[in-house]
Amino acid sequence: MPVQASVEQEPGFLNRALRTLSGCNRALLRATDETALYQEICRVVVEQAGYRFAWVGRAEHDPGKSITHLAQTGLDLDYASSLRLTWANAELGRGPAGTAIRTGKICISHDVQSDPALGPWREGALERGIASLLSLPLWVEEEIFGSFDIGALEPNAFGAQEVELLSQAAEDLGFGIATLRTRTRAAEAEATIKRMAYSDALTGLPNRVRLRELLEEAIVAAKQERRPLGLLQLEVGRSREINEVLGYHEADRLQQEIANRLVQTAGAANPVARVGECEFAVLMPSGGAEQASQLAQRILVALDEPIELSGLFLDARASIGIALYPGHGTDPEALIRRGSIALEQAKRSSTGYALFKGGLDLECAQRMALMGDLRRAIEHNELLLHYQPKLQIATNKVCGSEALVRWQHPQHGLIAPDQFIKLAESTGLITPLTYWVLDAALAQRYAWHEEGIERPVSVNLSARDLRDPKLLERINGSFATWGAQSDWIEFELTESALMEDPVTAMETLVRLKNLDAQLAIDDFGTGYSSLAYLQQLPVDSLKIDQSFVTRMTCDDGSAKIVHSIIELAHNLDLTVVAEGVEDQATLTQLGRLGCDIAQGYTISRPIPAEQFRDWEAHSTWH
Ligand code: C2E
Ligand code: CA
Ligand code: CA
Repeated sequence: MPVQASVEQEPGFLNRALRTLSGCNRALLRATDETALYQEICRVVVEQAGYRFAWVGRAEHDPGKSITHLAQTGLDLDYASSLRLTWANAELGRGPAGTAIRTGKICISHDVQSDPALGPWREGALERGIASLLSLPLWVEEEIFGSFDIGALEPNAFGAQEVELLSQAAEDLGFGIATLRTRTRAAEAEATIKRMAYSDALTGLPNRVRLRELLEEAIVAAKQERRPLGLLQLEVGRSREINEVLGYHEADRLQQEIANRLVQTAGAANPVARVGECEFAVLMPSGGAEQASQLAQRILVALDEPIELSGLFLDARASIGIALYPGHGTDPEALIRRGSIALEQAKRSSTGYALFKGGLDLECAQRMALMGDLRRAIEHNELLLHYQPKLQIATNKVCGSEALVRWQHPQHGLIAPDQFIKLAESTGLITPLTYWVLDAALAQRYAWHEEGIERPVSVNLSARDLRDPKLLERINGSFATWGAQSDWIEFELTESALMEDPVTAMETLVRLKNLDAQLAIDDFGTGYSSLAYLQQLPVDSLKIDQSFVTRMTCDDGSAKIVHSIIELAHNLDLTVVAEGVEDQATLTQLGRLGCDIAQGYTISRPIPAEQFRDWEAHSTWH
């Protein structure tokens, strides 16, 4: 059914075409999605321009070449959806819509009553007062997308000029659809890029970049609502060993399982991000110290359950550092920085989590830089031992020495143990460090043995060493290597290290004692051990913490503490050592109180083993 001869155009009819065109343009400008656009255009055609109905259909490329109803105004819905339309070259495809789609040309039915092509639809159309019909093909990106159909109450409603204007509207609609699609594709591409840039490939969780954004948004909201928020930073350890023993694939699976547990435990309100190889973060958008600590505890419990991988049960123990807005910082950087400092603090705490405690920022950054070097230092023998003599007070004789580690750093010079022991403990480097010290001390002890000097050397063990399952084996191996007697080495363990995990500590002490090793409790008086626990410990001596000893001559309280520790030790049949003896007066007073052994600057500072003989020759002790 080609375009029929044009009919006389009335000015009123032209006006409605113009109204259609301008209404369509307005709709196009405002459109955000395709469906809304069709709907709006149909509405404009009927409600603003005054046509009887408007309809948009999409040409499907199915075997029946069907036309799907997309939007319409002016028809009853039952009727609109009961129209079985096709653009196939068959009877039901020869109506205006089917013809417009099939031929790509405008198709007009000037008089529904008499048009032979309208047979199947005539009755329904006349019942609804439709006297003439116009179908415009909709071209989108150079393909026919469907048809835009308009019906009028009068026969011969569509004159040439009006059709011209309406086909411009159809063109604009096609262009509008194309624009929306381009926009959608661009948005999809952008979303994909964003997803890739903002999420961790292994777990699909937000990554470090995204976490920063989330944190920023959360801070803005928290500020407005005058409430606190928390950032929890986690390190889930053991990854290095797992990489080495099980390979990267299994290590990845472990991380995925950890991610699952974290997401489940944190809940939908607290997003989880993966910010590093074995580092995660949980953002708690609302809540203070109390809630953050509770969340940290729940997470620790959830990660406590071993994770099964290839038949092995792996321990995914975590440390959690907490920083809070606004107390610890008011911008994302400050919170992230403080959270990681708190994480370092958490690694040293027995609870596994820690709230940020101020004042460590700069110091910590410097120490972190040192850490990188320490591993190399252990391997390249940059560590060395100094020995501090111990004096038997009653006889005025040197009765042993304590091995104290130092680090000869190529740039920073000689570094004291306070600067690196704690960090070595928190990064797992303490294990190789302790092994190094043990071997170096045994080597020296062997040299002294060769010279006929048989005095024990004390070696410090850290809290971490007490949990090291290989410690005993390693000690046995080193003793065997040097043909050492069990009394060559004495082990010092701080009271606070024992109290971190009293049960494990007790087990390790018992096993050490079974090797016949001498054991001392270091820094005694600072670790709150109970007398009952102390009585059970298989130790040989107590070292009074130097904070009491250095003050005992000027502070009555300290003197009393020293006195009572000496009595306590003797009641338990333990030898008592005072360290931090800085002057002769203190040494004299200690002697009077019955203290057995003294160690301190007034006797000697810690010195290299080579200087030991010289020192002895020139000192008043023998
Ligand atoms: P510590 O085991 O309590 O060692 C005694 C510390 O007191 C030593 O500090 C020593 O130099 C110092 N000192 C000795 N006499 C005096 C004195 O009269 N007055 C004062 N004010 N201080 C005195 P150093 O060598 O800096 O070691 C500090 C800490 O580092 C040690 O405390 C120990 O906890 C740790 N450390 C040292 N070497 C090792 C090691 O090989 N392994 C482990 N795990 N820790 C070690
Ligand atoms: Ca010590
Ligand atoms: Ca000490």
